[in-house]
Amino acid sequence: MKVLKFGGTSVGSVKYINNVISILKSNAIDKSVVVVSAIGGITDKLLHAGKLAIDKDENYKDVFLNIKDIHTQLVKELIPVENEAIIFAIENKLEKLNSLLEGLYLLNELTPKISDKLVSFGELISSYVITEVLKARDLDAVEKNSQELIITNSNHGNAEVIQEETKENIKKYFKSLNNKVTILPGFVAKSNSGEETTLGRGGSDYTAALIAATLKAEVLEIWTDVSGMYTSNPKLVKQATPIDQLSFQEAMELSHFGAKVLYPPTVQPVLDANIPILIKNTMQPNDKGTKIFDVSEVSIKNPVRGITHINDIALLTLQGSGMVGIPGFSKRLFETLAQERINVIFITQASSEHAICFGIDYKDADTAQTVIDKTFEYEIALKKIEPILVETELSIIALIGDNMKNYQGISGRMFSTLGKNNINVRAIAQGASERNISAVINESDVKKAINALHERFFEVQTKQLNVFVVGVGNVGERLIDQIEQQHNFLKQKLKIDVRIVGMANSRKMVFNETGIDLEDWPSSFDFAEQSNLERFFNRVLELNLRNSIFVDITADEKVSEWYAPYLRHSISVVACNKIACSGPYSTYKNLHDLAINFNTSFLYETNVGAGLPVINTLNNLVASGDKVTSIEAVLSGSLNFVFNHFSDHTNFHDTVKRAQFEGYTEPDPRIDLSGIDVARKILILARENGGEMEIDDIENKSFLTKANLESYSLDDFYDSLKEDETHFQEMYASAKANNAQLKYVAEFKNGKAMVGLREIPEGHPFYNLEGKDNIVMFYTERYPEQPLIIKGAGAGADVTASGLFADIIKIGNK
Ligand code: ADP
Ligand code: ASP
Ligand code: MG
Repeated sequence: MKVLKFGGTSVGSVKYINNVISILKSNAIDKSVVVVSAIGGITDKLLHAGKLAIDKDENYKDVFLNIKDIHTQLVKELIPVENEAIIFAIENKLEKLNSLLEGLYLLNELTPKISDKLVSFGELISSYVITEVLKARDLDAVEKNSQELIITNSNHGNAEVIQEETKENIKKYFKSLNNKVTILPGFVAKSNSGEETTLGRGGSDYTAALIAATLKAEVLEIWTDVSGMYTSNPKLVKQATPIDQLSFQEAMELSHFGAKVLYPPTVQPVLDANIPILIKNTMQPNDKGTKIFDVSEVSIKNPVRGITHINDIALLTLQGSGMVGIPGFSKRLFETLAQERINVIFITQASSEHAICFGIDYKDADTAQTVIDKTFEYEIALKKIEPILVETELSIIALIGDNMKNYQGISGRMFSTLGKNNINVRAIAQGASERNISAVINESDVKKAINALHERFFEVQTKQLNVFVVGVGNVGERLIDQIEQQHNFLKQKLKIDVRIVGMANSRKMVFNETGIDLEDWPSSFDFAEQSNLERFFNRVLELNLRNSIFVDITADEKVSEWYAPYLRHSISVVACNKIACSGPYSTYKNLHDLAINFNTSFLYETNVGAGLPVINTLNNLVASGDKVTSIEAVLSGSLNFVFNHFSDHTNFHDTVKRAQFEGYTEPDPRIDLSGIDVARKILILARENGGEMEIDDIENKSFLTKANLESYSLDDFYDSLKEDETHFQEMYASAKANNAQLKYVAEFKNGKAMVGLREIPEGHPFYNLEGKDNIVMFYTERYPEQPLIIKGAGAGADVTASGLFADIIKIGNK
């Protein structure tokens, strides 16, 4: 025979009950026992109604009516004819509930004892309804109230079963039974003094396990709303998958550490009796589910079988020099807790013996604090130990797997993954069996932590990058297009899943935790909120997603001021904005230090040469021990474009206008024309080469006139270019006479850097530099005569976007 338990804390639909019936009909159910838990989320509703009633809130009546409705409605739909007697019986049963609620309304108090009476209605009603429906569908079913079989102590809310008596009762009852199916309400029981008790949250699983163990069932089937025990809670980790097989011990650890698909002690009775458990999905009965049985060596490649968590943990620390080397402290400590029936979930003791740290349910924290301080009153008064320290709003996360002990480096990987995601670990414990490695972290980090760990241990294949873009202009648009276009390729080939979760322009900002739809991203701005850098930052922190990357595609100093806060939260920064790297050296240095200290990345390849790999190449030269002796470069795509198109047939003003129009200049072209932009770039290269230089150390010989340089506005500037046309024509004529080309050159040599316009003679590598190209020549110890040359388009939205993209991928590959 089998024991089948039907859960359904959230489902109470007709379809659900129909599925239950067809599962029972298609199963070999001779003499089987069916344990049902409360359907349609009724346990919570009952508690809610009780709470409202004692708060003198009349709304409890609505909750009551809703409970009544669900059950009578189910009966009416499932048994359309001759249902009067059943409905009458339900109304009768619920009348008692109504009186109880009315009593609570007057009484003002919900004791654990009454609470048990209250929640018991859920299982009792649900099992009645299911039995009647089964009978109406011609199944030979009989209902038995488990309160008459399962006997407990009087620990209301979480009663302990009196094993001998209960087993006796179960055996006796089932001995003479001839029905095919017996229906029992789960979770409910009675104390030996005859009061109603319950077996704790999820206690129906325990009822089912007790029956299965006592009757030596061939299998215990747990039918629930998920297709098995998953690698992690499927509600929090989208990528989680069902585990085919688990050993009893693994299942026990997983459920103990929060996988509430099984109630923890459930495994114990069936484990003792060696009865396999099958977890199946009532709504998807054909899914394979999870089989839990006595396998000493489950043959699986991945030693980590699941990742779980428990919320609402309080961490208590007992510390003081008076504990060192003196036996008996922990005994007294844990005895004190045991006397108060406080369950210890987690213990670690530093090897210095200076502190004992343990985790308990936060509900017990106040009591624990009081009783422990009382126990150690004397030592505390003598200052041998400190009053107990209590921290709350914590959670435990745990990796589970029988075989973890045979592999090295699992905890290393666990903690480096947490560290990379800026998750602070408050305490660590590893069971001696090495079946579980657990850590205490802030509750607000749980979702991020288990997703990051899941990715690390189960999805080695894919890594999700969560990108936040500020500055969706020309370049930003291209970047989004490129990410959209390459999305599938990256996922398949590089195993990187790039999502844009937040984006902002100067007016609006928008977020979508599951990733903005990139096919139609402009429309997501339609209902967007007003843009604000601080709120943007706060949203990024609130979302708290793993592998977050902040991308700055502006030229705005204000945006660059936010890099440090992002890096401090281990959020990587990718920027094409040069202001941070070319600002004060201390800023540049600080950002790099933050990236190292917070185990994150600060990348800005596009600061020099747009998409050309200039900074990366220089970094590689330096890292490999080469010494750069000099750098000569044309670093301004816009200036190169201007001087390639300016001649005695054109005029300077129009040429600059055209460069701006085609998107090769900075938003303010004076930044390019004045040479500042080039000065910033050579400064950044000098710094990457190890030079502690400031922008004022760069010699900048401007080719502009005084009037150009002193113009107030952009319009003024353009007017002055027109007026000074002769000045520019003279420059051109001189170059032409010398058979040279005008190029704006940056140079770094002997620790000095300069920028300025030069006449480049024929034959020089710069002479034929076309369009908006850049060229960089590195002369190094390894490249003394023939320099290492990088050349290509050095401006433009597409190439800049692809440079940003490369930085993002680089972070993904890290
Ligand atoms: P039932 O009412 O059937 O007892 P529960 O709500 O008690 O259902 O348990 C099933 C729920 O357990 C799932 O809906 C899921 O949210 C949660 N859960 C937590 N961790 C896991 C896990 N590792 N695998 C499967 N489910 C899990
Ligand atoms: N109905 C109870 C609860 O929600 C028992 C159970 O579902 O197992 O905890
Ligand atoms: Mg459950």
